Amino acid sequence: MNYFIYLLSFFICSAQCAPQNVFSSAPTCGYSSCNPVKDGMINVHLVPHTHDDVGWLKTVDQYYYGDKNDIQIAGVQYILDSVIPQLINDPSKRFIYVEIAFFARWWREQTDSMRHVVKGLVAEGRLEFILGGWCMNDEASTHYNAIIDQHTIGFEFLRQNFKDCGRPRVAWQIDPFGHSREQASLFAQMGFDGLFFGRLDYEDKDNRLKQKTMEMIWKGSPKNLGSVSELFTGALYSGYGPPGGFCWDTICGDSPVMDDDRLHDYNVPAVMQNLVKAVNDQAKHYQTKHLIWTMGSDFQYSNANTWFKNLDKLIKYANAMQANGSNINLLYSTPSCYLDQLNKAGLKWTSKEDDFFPYASRGHSYWTGYFTSRTALKYYVRRTNNFLQVTKQMDALALLEDTDNSTYNIVILREAMGVAQHHDAVSGTEKQAVAYDYATRLANGVNECEKVINDAYGKLMPLGSQKPPSHQFCTLLNISSCSVTENNKMFQLHIYNPIARPVEYYVKLPVVGKTYSVIGPDGKAIETQVVPISPDTMRIPERSGSLAKHDLVFPTTLQPLGFTTYFIQMTAGKKAKTGHETKTLPLSATSANVVLQNKYISLTFDGQSGMLMSMQNLEKEISLTISQEFRFYFSQAGNNSKDEFQASGAYIFRPNDTQSYNFSSSPSLTTKSYVQAGQIVQELVQSFSPWATQTVILYENARFAEFQWTVGPIPIDDKLGKEVISKFTTDLKNNGFYYTDANGREILERRRDHRDTWALNQSEPISGNYYPINSRIFIQDQKVNKQLTILNDRSQGGGSIQDGEIEIMVHRRLLHDDSLGVGEPLNETGSDGKGLVVRGSHYVFLDTLEASASLHREKAEELFMAPQLSFTTEQTKYSDWSKNFRTTWSGVKQALPRNVHLLTLEQFAGTGPEPSESQPFLLRLEHMYEIDEDATLSKPVNVSIQDLFTTFEITSATELTLGANLPLSQLERLKWMSADDVDTESTKAHDPSLKFKPSQLNDSLTVTLKPMQIRTFQIEIKNRQ
Ligand SMILES: [Zn+2]
Repeated sequence: MNYFIYLLSFFICSAQCAPQNVFSSAPTCGYSSCNPVKDGMINVHLVPHTHDDVGWLKTVDQYYYGDKNDIQIAGVQYILDSVIPQLINDPSKRFIYVEIAFFARWWREQTDSMRHVVKGLVAEGRLEFILGGWCMNDEASTHYNAIIDQHTIGFEFLRQNFKDCGRPRVAWQIDPFGHSREQASLFAQMGFDGLFFGRLDYEDKDNRLKQKTMEMIWKGSPKNLGSVSELFTGALYSGYGPPGGFCWDTICGDSPVMDDDRLHDYNVPAVMQNLVKAVNDQAKHYQTKHLIWTMGSDFQYSNANTWFKNLDKLIKYANAMQANGSNINLLYSTPSCYLDQLNKAGLKWTSKEDDFFPYASRGHSYWTGYFTSRTALKYYVRRTNNFLQVTKQMDALALLEDTDNSTYNIVILREAMGVAQHHDAVSGTEKQAVAYDYATRLANGVNECEKVINDAYGKLMPLGSQKPPSHQFCTLLNISSCSVTENNKMFQLHIYNPIARPVEYYVKLPVVGKTYSVIGPDGKAIETQVVPISPDTMRIPERSGSLAKHDLVFPTTLQPLGFTTYFIQMTAGKKAKTGHETKTLPLSATSANVVLQNKYISLTFDGQSGMLMSMQNLEKEISLTISQEFRFYFSQAGNNSKDEFQASGAYIFRPNDTQSYNFSSSPSLTTKSYVQAGQIVQELVQSFSPWATQTVILYENARFAEFQWTVGPIPIDDKLGKEVISKFTTDLKNNGFYYTDANGREILERRRDHRDTWALNQSEPISGNYYPINSRIFIQDQKVNKQLTILNDRSQGGGSIQDGEIEIMVHRRLLHDDSLGVGEPLNETGSDGKGLVVRGSHYVFLDTLEASASLHREKAEELFMAPQLSFTTEQTKYSDWSKNFRTTWSGVKQALPRNVHLLTLEQFAGTGPEPSESQPFLLRLEHMYEIDEDATLSKPVNVSIQDLFTTFEITSATELTLGANLPLSQLERLKWMSADDVDTESTKAHDPSLKFKPSQLNDSLTVTLKPMQIRTFQIEIKNRQ
């Protein structure tokens, strides 16, 4: 009660009063602040919590303020307003808060005195931050780069405002629809002691309940990282809601505890009976004498009193029964307090090495549709991550100061990207209006960051005092549309390469003319080719207004972590000597086979049908029989009332048949297919239907073939939803095995109709074999030593449904909702309202097993960290420009080794109690290879960072946890034992925690990276200029 009086005094005295310390002076947060348990009893940890989606049915702002309550009654501001006084009033009460995107909005609106009170609650562990990311990210369609970033900004907010007591100890993924092993590995490296989640396959759950293995040690990187990637993981008993009958939010319907026995509705005995039953039901499936009850759900606690008043009574009457021999003890708790008790139990837990994909909630409800849902948004999120990394790097390399406003500009995109990782954002399971809101946020962030890139070029480009002209950006280059290149006869192209090694890159610019001269950074002419834009690109509605009829194509070699400038001019009529012709050759019924070939690979197409027939790796003399086509599934319709009536929807993929369909009875592409042959690029344009087209592209020096597809508008006049796949069929014998990446990093082995930890009863032979393909999928034939690898440019779903096949879902248009909450069919209509047209690319490699990793690792890096193009339109010659400006520049003194990825380079506030004035930077280096993937590139590698960068020297480096919120030397994680651990002296010891000793860096700050290792450093720098 005394806290409440103090709080009142704060409100009265406002800001001019000196803050008073109403809480005990030393922070007592962490495991020592937990409410006591009773040994020998079943301790029920009541965890009051709210699950606040960072956008879903409403936008993130609408959820925050409680707007549009006709869509969903939800207002996050009221939740925090309402919970804090409850915590102030009663020191035994606990509450956890998770989504920092919301908490940061609320925090900005609070007075100093309220902030002071909340800091006190956090310091005493009464309000605890769990997970602490900007959002609770999706695990299927998110890229590890964006996952790490979204946690880093959440952690940074907590650290700045709550110091060590704000550092989350437990990860909390209660709602995502399946769980990735890479996510577990990243969480372990962020220093989390444990992870709890709510959703797992119904068969897996039944099995685990029977075996009492709902709680386990998850090995996040068993082959590469070992114990640092291990994470204690618990699957919650009733999702993330309360047991039946105990939901006491204003939006719940359960009876309150009515405890005046003079009244007719007195129900304490009935509530206690229900409690005892619920406790015993759960206790028989778990190993310890502790149970966790998640007392809350979506957007609950906006009137916290209804919850807390009834929980108070529940605790009071349940614990009173102990006097009569009851062994049930209820307490207010948090996930970390529950975890602490599990740890103290000192048991040996079973372990798991695979992941929790795919997630089925019942026999015909496989949540594998969302792997592909909103495929254009998924692409935009991936591209925007690319742009954010470029901005952060250039901001750091140019040493932009806050006076340039760069921090503020970057924050807007950082936070928009943080929001976009949410499990109803990039997952594609939000309403259409909310999807538009996410995209708008990203676009606003990109606009802000374009200013930063301009400022960085302003510093890095000039040789003297003259400022470079303003850079313009083209965001629709993927559909051959760009007003700068279309409307200017003379312009400069600047390419920033965010990879710290040289990259070979083919530029493709939409232009109106037929002949161009391109001058490179050294003043020499570059070989070019002008290729007509295919009619199928022309039909994309989002190109409306674009004048381009051709693409100008030329090869470039890009500086590591730097920029390169090219000078482009239309040469009306007269063809430059360096211009290569494009010959257009239509296919006809009598055509001989068509071959696209460079010095590395060759693709043979049937001259009559235009279909792919075979692929050769010319260096290795490997040949593969392969065809590729687009097909589609008809989506199951249904009212979802029973398993058999499950419809395909935004979450669920359920085809209505066990086979896919092609576009006509005999696949023939002759009518529209043709070849565009030239020196630099060769293309085969294929038309499978008026709405499913493709260009197979082979560049002069590429070891891959690009299959650029354009799909949509998917017709629905037959009132049937459709899900379109690109299907590759080969003669490889992969014996049911295929391989997909997890969040763009480690590769997981998949086996058709099989799960590692239980005997699967396969009820959906297609959907049940779909996995997230975040960056790549491959199949191998070990006998003939051939591997077919396909990389994509965004997250998609797919698998190998029959031996020799790979299928990847590229687009879906559905007419039914799957009754999992979103309440809308996934029917995207695009800018013209007629149905969304989507374009993307698959990159196809054929090689031996041992050579394939170096191809897909490098290409994957080049795809998610693609070069960033910008343009200036000075009417000036190379010789004049190069007097004033650098035409080439690198931010590193030497390229990083081929197996090292520069994951993060950004300005960073630092991990001290206050933002550091010495302007520290954050640096993450990553070994891109797994153990044994490549004979040489999988070896450990050293990088000396002191003298690595050109604009600054690194004077010291402190190694941090992956989330950059704690020096690694200070990290202590709870120690767990798994049943397969061998007893050693160290595991027998009673030290419950593991302390991490970062390896000391030597004088030249040499960093050693082991396979798949990411090392995070706060670096102090000295400006060289
Ligand atoms: Zn959710």
